[in-house]
Amino acid sequence: MPKKTLKPKHIPQRTCVGCREVNPKRSLVRIVRQTEAVVIDQKGKMAGRGAYLHNQKSCWERGLKGSLEQALKTKFSDIDREILFTYMQSLSDDGIPDELQHAA
Ligand SMILES: [Zn+2]
Repeated sequence: MPKKTLKPKHIPQRTCVGCREVNPKRSLVRIVRQTEAVVIDQKGKMAGRGAYLHNQKSCWERGLKGSLEQALKTKFSDIDREILFTYMQSLSDDGIPDELQHAA
């Protein structure tokens, strides 16, 4: 635990493992490594080692080349890859506007 955290509205910052940009946590998608397989953690509340990627295809493509495995300290199985690729296919190149995500 950090000492004295008196800043009233601290926004958690996370690094996208695809492009290495640091962003507010809520603009990123969390991927969690679980015992069985990786999980896309839409709510960001799952236990386990997590890594973050933008909701953007280009970041997933880069992340899936290796940096995501590194961040999660794992080697993806075929199932993991399928889960991640399926999610990636649902993304647009520019990212999905927030409004649409929350409407779903
Ligand atoms: Zn990114």
